[in-house]
Amino acid sequence: MRIPVRDDLRALEGYHSPQVSVSVRLNTNESPTAPPAAWRDAFAAELSRLEWNRYPDRAAVALRGAIAALHGLDPAQVFVANGSNEVLQTLVLTFAGPGRTVATFEPTYQMHAQIARVTGARVVEGERRADFTLDLDEVRRICADEAPVITFLCSPNNPTGLVEPAANVHAVMAVAPGLVVVDEAYGQFADWSAISLIDEETPLVVTRTFSKTWSMAGARLGYLLGPSWLVAELDKVTLPYHLDASKQIAGRLALQYVDDMEARVAHIVAQRERIQAAFAAMPVDFWPSGANFVLFRPQHLPGKDVWQGLLDRDVLVRDCSGWPRLGDCLRVTVGTSEENDVFLKALGEVLA
Ligand code: PMP
Repeated sequence: MRIPVRDDLRALEGYHSPQVSVSVRLNTNESPTAPPAAWRDAFAAELSRLEWNRYPDRAAVALRGAIAALHGLDPAQVFVANGSNEVLQTLVLTFAGPGRTVATFEPTYQMHAQIARVTGARVVEGERRADFTLDLDEVRRICADEAPVITFLCSPNNPTGLVEPAANVHAVMAVAPGLVVVDEAYGQFADWSAISLIDEETPLVVTRTFSKTWSMAGARLGYLLGPSWLVAELDKVTLPYHLDASKQIAGRLALQYVDDMEARVAHIVAQRERIQAAFAAMPVDFWPSGANFVLFRPQHLPGKDVWQGLLDRDVLVRDCSGWPRLGDCLRVTVGTSEENDVFLKALGEVLA
């Protein structure tokens, strides 16, 4: 006997990121390189001394302290969870849910709407302009008509790669009647961050992740920076001991290798610029990216065919061609320089 799911969940599709076994995997915006060997050794050493019979530090004091120090904030302004997806889920559980409205501006990261719907919140999807930049008239209209309790921005935006200019974030903060969330999963690849706008009086939070720049997607660790009163509310909603002891160690130790992280980011940014320069000489349209991926659209061939042509050459990119508003678009994650060589050669062949 099957028990029916909630009425409002019946039509829900779920979030899919198909994995295929290939040599060059450029589809999920991970870091192409591992964290430093010194981190691995330090982590293994601390792990061997862990008291597995004890619950972890529920407040993750050491990890929060290290994140706060990195950003020059107070530890009480830091919330940590299992990936920034869980951070977003906790936010929505705390402030949205049934009877409340969440606003997104599409196309953007699909999980914002998905997570909100799972909590029972109503989602209002605003439209971006045809070039995928934020339409402030649309933001004003949605904020006035729909009174969202949470307004999501994403900078750099996934899947477009566009960085939200500071002026736009200010403009959204000025009209949003509730909380403004800036998802900065790719924040370190961009040239500015909304973290500088955080203070105790402003209903603004920024979310970040260890999955990209810290080369730790396998660890599932993300965090939020925002006013301490808001963090205290999130702490009430999240499950007790939700952050296991080994993950707290992994994250705290990672922050001792900021220089390595910044070197990896600089390398990826240089490779991203190289890919964009190559795109400029090919029959593709692309959007200027501030992230570790680039969205592009072949000018003369269906996106799906180009995706398949790349796959036939052992290169996997993200097929966005069937997504709303993204007809024929593909998204490539910046890989190592060798992986990018293979990708660009394969793309040249497919387009020829
Ligand atoms: N936000 C954005 C914009 C993302 O692209 C992703 C990863 N796909 C996440 C959040 C979630 O990242 P994680 O849960 O690995 O921290």
